[in-house]
Amino acid sequence: MQFKEVIGQDQVKTHLIKTVRNSRVSHAQLFLGPPACGKLPMAIAYAQYINCKNRSETDSCGTCPSCVKYGKLVHPDLHFIYPTAKARDIDKPTSKDFIKDWRELLLEQNQYFHLSDWYEKIGIEKKQAIINARDCNDIISTLNYKSYEAEYKVMIIWMVEKLFHSAAPKILKILEEPPDKTLFILIAESQENIINTILSRTQLVKFNPIADDALQESLEAEGYDPVLVRDAVRVASGNYKEAKRLVAQPDAESQNYTWFINWMRVCYKGKFVEILDFVNDFARVNRDAQKGMLKYGLRIIRESLLVGFHQDDLIRLNSKESEFTSRFHKFIHAGNIGMIADEMNRSIAHIDRNANPNVLFLDASIKLAQYLKK
Ligand SMILES: [Zn+2]
Repeated sequence: MQFKEVIGQDQVKTHLIKTVRNSRVSHAQLFLGPPACGKLPMAIAYAQYINCKNRSETDSCGTCPSCVKYGKLVHPDLHFIYPTAKARDIDKPTSKDFIKDWRELLLEQNQYFHLSDWYEKIGIEKKQAIINARDCNDIISTLNYKSYEAEYKVMIIWMVEKLFHSAAPKILKILEEPPDKTLFILIAESQENIINTILSRTQLVKFNPIADDALQESLEAEGYDPVLVRDAVRVASGNYKEAKRLVAQPDAESQNYTWFINWMRVCYKGKFVEILDFVNDFARVNRDAQKGMLKYGLRIIRESLLVGFHQDDLIRLNSKESEFTSRFHKFIHAGNIGMIADEMNRSIAHIDRNANPNVLFLDASIKLAQYLKK
């Protein structure tokens, strides 16, 4: 990964390049920012730049032996730690056990993905994944070896929020006084969930969501229709993975829109026969699609409230949705949004627990019918 492949985030890039050029690479840095905004690709691009034998003022060369190994994520001095759980026949999991899956996912997804994509990749969607004590032992033993060939050994700890509390003390010392020429890059989405003793030992590098124009340019360069891209970017809030999902599957999103407005319509009219028709049809759809519609609905409800408050700068809706919410917003207000959102979140949780969809959606529809009239 070269800096030029990281989407947007120019300020962070400039800052990181400067640390290398001024020989002021801090040995433990925390890359903090929202999901899929480019923290992981930036960490890899930074490590590649540091170790490039032929770097320019702005980027690594991409062709020296170090860069080639970095490109395939197989450099012997590049290490990754990430959350895992018991999976397949692995009883005492560590990051090492899943390195093949990890590399595959990074290469498949161009290094932009969500925690849920990782869980899905290794089949632990329903489990609590952590960075465990064995991982912490591995960090210490790995870094105590001399580097094989690179100038810097790099340890990237992804989603450090998942570091198991009682395991954390193991790595405090090495984080504070690492062996010479070692770089820790910790990656996280929420500062509040990071153990304080870890937080205080790192230098913070803050990421914002990807700027809309950078996201637009990148997806257009991938060959997507500029009109579709514009709508997707408006909705994705600087999240590459989400924007990509929207442009890659415009039909799925348009299907969510249709389902959701039909659902709201029958709920508001409150005619039992119509509600029943909707529920009978929708109950046949697969569970992921049902959850997709509910999540979509949660977003539209939230945006509708912003429409009602005329928060034009904050609103993120595509053109079709803008038209719908220009009328629908009248039914969403501070007095009912909490109840509506709770009901929809509860429905998502019930779907995860394999509830009967007919019962679930009938029940939810009757409640929403009441809430919308409040
Ligand atoms: Zn190079």
